Amino acid sequence: MVLNIRQISKSYKTVRALQQVSFDVPENCVYGILGPNGSGKTTLLGILLDILKPDSGTFQWFGQGGNAEIRKKIGSLLETPNFYSYLSGAENLRITQSVSGRGRAKDIDDVLHTVGLHNRRWAPFKNYSLGMKQRLAIAAALLGNPKVLVLDEPTNGLDPAGIAEVRELIVQLYRRGHTIIMASHLLDEVEKVCTHVAILKNGQLLASGSTEEILSEEDIVELGAENITQLKELAAGLGGKMLENHHTNGLIHISFPKGKIRPEEINRYCFERGIILQHLALKRKKLETLFFELTGK
Ligand code: ADP
Repeated sequence: MVLNIRQISKSYKTVRALQQVSFDVPENCVYGILGPNGSGKTTLLGILLDILKPDSGTFQWFGQGGNAEIRKKIGSLLETPNFYSYLSGAENLRITQSVSGRGRAKDIDDVLHTVGLHNRRWAPFKNYSLGMKQRLAIAAALLGNPKVLVLDEPTNGLDPAGIAEVRELIVQLYRRGHTIIMASHLLDEVEKVCTHVAILKNGQLLASGSTEEILSEEDIVELGAENITQLKELAAGLGGKMLENHHTNGLIHISFPKGKIRPEEINRYCFERGIILQHLALKRKKLETLFFELTGK
């Protein structure tokens, strides 16, 4: 186990930023900490990196406490580092390294290769695209070859190309055996890159586990017909749970326990009651659906 978190609570005066949060992060995963703004994600990362002290609760990295040797296995990027705009990427990393003392000079080449900036290493930082700037920041966090990377909203403020680059990089790091723990308020991002997810709201943990597990407990059936009101009335009789947030594009969504319903049964049920379905699809539960249900957002 890379990390276990037990009953962590933290308040700022009257704000309860974290309330008894517990979950485990296994080896070699991308663990997304998902929640709307103000849900406690940054506070949790701050505690895990010893920047903040919890009021109560404990956490252990690699089954041990938080000694200096263990801290070396953890790289982090909580806010954008202050790189010098006129210096090159490689020179900036050299400065970062001399300040942090992480890794050796030869590691700079390695991390530049890893983040795909080696061929642009001598270009001034100011000429980098947003995605390249963020990749350089991740390169800095990778100095010393930490096993774990902790990233706070790694695609915040990036343009679409930059977002794609950083996502791709996170997936690559995961494939190379790193464990990535990242906070995000973007469902889509978490769904695309994370193998695991913990969902926070107002400092409370609403769900945690592998993305597969969390999402696979229910099947979502998507239905459409010319008369949507009639379809809705009829669908109520199918026994599933109507998802209120999803009457989009004239379609309705009903959730069923996994494997409990077959599309052909629904089709027959509707047909026998005088409704011809124009659309019928069985979908894996989307993180978005779960998130709406859990947080009401
Ligand atoms: P997130 O990262 O999910 O946006 P934060 O951990 O930043 O959430 O914040 C959680 C809650 O704690 C919010 O209500 C926020 O306003 C409050 N908070 C965060 N930092 C401080 C602070 N230094 N002083 C007072 N309140 C804070």
